[in-house]
Amino acid sequence: MNARLRISRTHYPVHALGPGERLAVWVQGCTLSCKGCMSRDTWPADGGEDVPIAELTALWRSAVDRGAEGLTISGGEPLQQADGLAAFLTAADEVRRDAGRELDFLLYTGYDEGELDETRWAAAGQADVVVFGRYDVTRPTELVWRGSANQRMVPRTDLGRRRYAGFVDHAPDHGPLQLEVRNGDPWIIGTPRPGVLRNLDRSLKGLGLQVTDATWRP
Ligand code: SF4
Repeated sequence: MNARLRISRTHYPVHALGPGERLAVWVQGCTLSCKGCMSRDTWPADGGEDVPIAELTALWRSAVDRGAEGLTISGGEPLQQADGLAAFLTAADEVRRDAGRELDFLLYTGYDEGELDETRWAAAGQADVVVFGRYDVTRPTELVWRGSANQRMVPRTDLGRRRYAGFVDHAPDHGPLQLEVRNGDPWIIGTPRPGVLRNLDRSLKGLGLQVTDATWRP
């Protein structure tokens, strides 16, 4: 398998972007430039790491062996590498067929359905659930796993409909967030509500920590 995907990072277990414990893959590269994007480090197309699909598939297989319940693809803009993503999801599907239990694929894209061409649909069509739409900082939301109110969560398969039916309109009191530290740098997984990142900045400052290079600031 020669296909590759340029990625920003991966993490397992993630429990703030989809139901259960999940492998998450953040794709590198996005030209959509949403104002207020919290992942500006994923914008440059030449950043991150160019990874063979076979390597990502092995990572997914390992996560499944450890009990993963699903795979989340975010970014960056995953559909700006539609060929590589389609190849990865095809391989990941073979892994889940071997697993003998239901594992879902959740895809985040800044595009709306009407913006997808055949190539992008070849990738997006393999996801059980797709969250469509650019992040709009002027339209905050309390809906789970969405950054702004315009973003639509669309279950596309029987598994997606069964597993996500209760989440499409779900607005929990506190949105799930996960704080991880890698190589000494803190990073946040999830879709923070308005003010959360500002409060985090303040809290870290209160602990004597100065955040100098946050991905959520221009
Ligand atoms: S929110 Fe997503 S689609 Fe928008 S600029 Fe950031 S990475 Fe790109």
